[in-house]
Amino acid sequence: MPVERTEHRGATELHKYYEVYETIGSGGFAKVKLGRHILTGEKVAIKIMNKKDLGDDLPRVKVEIEAMKNLSHQHICRLYHVIETPTQIFMVLEYCPGGELFDYIIAKDRLSEQETRVFFRQIVSAMAYVHSQGYAHRDLKPENLLIDEDHNLKLIDFGLCAKPKGGLGYELMTCCGSPAYAAPELIQGKAYIGSEADVWSMGVLLFALLCGYLPFDDDNCMVLYKKITRGKYDNPQWLSTGSIMLLNQMMQVEPKRRLAVRHLLEHPWVMKDYNSPVEWYSRQPLGHIDEDCITEMAVNMKRSRESTTALVKEWRYDQTTATYLLLLSKKQRGRPVRLRPEPTVCEVSPLHQGLQTREALHFSEDEDAVIVGSLDFCSDYIDDCPWLSVQEYTPQRVRGRPDGGTNKDTRLTSPSVEKRYGHSPSAERGRTTTPQHQQKRVKDQEPTSENKENIADEKEAEHFALPPPRTPMSNKKSARPNKNVLTTPNQNISVGTPKGGDSASKEHNKKRVAENKDPALEILAFSPERRSRSLDMAVTGDSGKKKRGGKMFGSLERGLDKVITMLTPSKRRALRDGPRKIKAQYNVTLTNQTNPDQVLNQILSILPEKNVDFTQKGYTLKCQTWDDFGKVTMAFELEVCLLQRPEVVGIRRQRLKGDAWVYKHLVENILSTSRI
Ligand code: ADP
Repeated sequence: MPVERTEHRGATELHKYYEVYETIGSGGFAKVKLGRHILTGEKVAIKIMNKKDLGDDLPRVKVEIEAMKNLSHQHICRLYHVIETPTQIFMVLEYCPGGELFDYIIAKDRLSEQETRVFFRQIVSAMAYVHSQGYAHRDLKPENLLIDEDHNLKLIDFGLCAKPKGGLGYELMTCCGSPAYAAPELIQGKAYIGSEADVWSMGVLLFALLCGYLPFDDDNCMVLYKKITRGKYDNPQWLSTGSIMLLNQMMQVEPKRRLAVRHLLEHPWVMKDYNSPVEWYSRQPLGHIDEDCITEMAVNMKRSRESTTALVKEWRYDQTTATYLLLLSKKQRGRPVRLRPEPTVCEVSPLHQGLQTREALHFSEDEDAVIVGSLDFCSDYIDDCPWLSVQEYTPQRVRGRPDGGTNKDTRLTSPSVEKRYGHSPSAERGRTTTPQHQQKRVKDQEPTSENKENIADEKEAEHFALPPPRTPMSNKKSARPNKNVLTTPNQNISVGTPKGGDSASKEHNKKRVAENKDPALEILAFSPERRSRSLDMAVTGDSGKKKRGGKMFGSLERGLDKVITMLTPSKRRALRDGPRKIKAQYNVTLTNQTNPDQVLNQILSILPEKNVDFTQKGYTLKCQTWDDFGKVTMAFELEVCLLQRPEVVGIRRQRLKGDAWVYKHLVENILSTSRI
């Protein structure tokens, strides 16, 4: 079957059950998009992988899927649905709106011991469970821990996990994980016990939480390995004696001398202020059947409870499994166990018509079903849709976040800002509606394609509200770009600087970077693979193969495509609307300026100096750095936005790809050089 045809089939299959929104992350293998499960109305994360791009890494995805099917725990991201086509794999996952733990750490500089303990207990809980199921994770790092809407951690990325046939006590050989977090025995290529290696990584992670930087770090790979093998690191003066002791017990070079996870469960440092061991058993055991969810599904499907139960118990990770697990999740969050009610006249979906039939929930094999949702699935299309891309995703406000840590870097927004000023949805939207009024409106409102743009902003509402109408009033004051400023978003539509393209300009880049003498940039320019790749990938030498050959042309073509889409009326409309108004949150850096165009210009003038290519969409800059082979080493977004309280310009940062620590240094460097 031709590739296009089969990809469309996968897209069709996905769109039968989900609405697909913007990209919220990307990793070594996948692009992750925000989605919504149509039947339950629940938000989900959709991990999208092209088999062709995966190449030899395809087995890893299979490993990840199998592992996630076998793991159900309050601190592990839940897998709901797997859709596989001849060309693509979609994994539908629990959505974690709070972003990566990594971003949280860097926004706060470092965490207090108290806050670290809250998170670390959750990590221990997840890892004790993972190990109890016979798995080793092997890629523990703060980028693989996401924060959910209740500010709890969820472990992701089981692509490198292992389940030794003879049990966890059996030795493994594959060297994998991220170098900075890898245990000494692992980087030495010795046989190792997966759970012991995980404890070392947990030690590195604990250090990163408490200190805001890594215990073992070096630009030079060999020097880094030596440091890890020696196991010597400096303890900063702010660490308590208890923290120093625990770190030391976890980062023991000799694996047998390391603490085991079972010791961590009731370690004095872990128990402090809690006086109880970590609860590690699953609160959501696999295979559990909830009668309320079954009843709702049975009613919706017009079939008996018995047959519905039998269907759910097949655990096929299809629409039935997804519907059941998402209903259960609703119930656990105190939401009504209800499937989406009858559609209104304006949205009679084929899916709903289908659901009135007996087999409605079990039609994953039905290739000819009509697409539901207003977007034809195509990731680039979604990326280029102005109503999706301009109103970008931002992690939602985190509830009940304990304040801690000493944020010395005043450029980074501390959650206390948010606490101080609170949240006022109506003020944010420039409306006069009361919260109650708004909530009612939200409940009464049937979702339409129009309201997709605000999906991530609507943090309290379980349903999807319409965005505020774009009237002149809603864009008043400084929200509009100042036409007199030299570089307004409307005028300066860049398709990336040409230097990412050929080797001569790469040489030029190198020279400029060398002149800059910035260590972070040196890493990007000369050894971009060193830190952002997993060890075993480096060993197998598969780096960069995905886009090799077509990269430059692909990039140019995409660039041209963007210019063309920029000229569409809807795109122009999006640009006219000015910067987004958002609330202060931890991935937003506050400036002391009030003119967004000025801030944008300052950043725009700095990016080329830092060898960062960018594409501009209104006030959002999609940034990329490249290696000498034309491979993207880092992708991130910087968005100039307006904060309500205090009324200043903010810069939203989001890493999409690349090593988290290199990203941290680069963005800090850009923002400090921009003097904003
Ligand atoms: P890969 O396996 O390709 O490395 P990941 O599973 O690590 O991909 O996902 C890449 C990124 O996408 C993550 O670092 C995170 O920022 C985002 N992401 C992944 N899963 C979710 C999720 N369930 N909810 C929200 N964001 C997610």
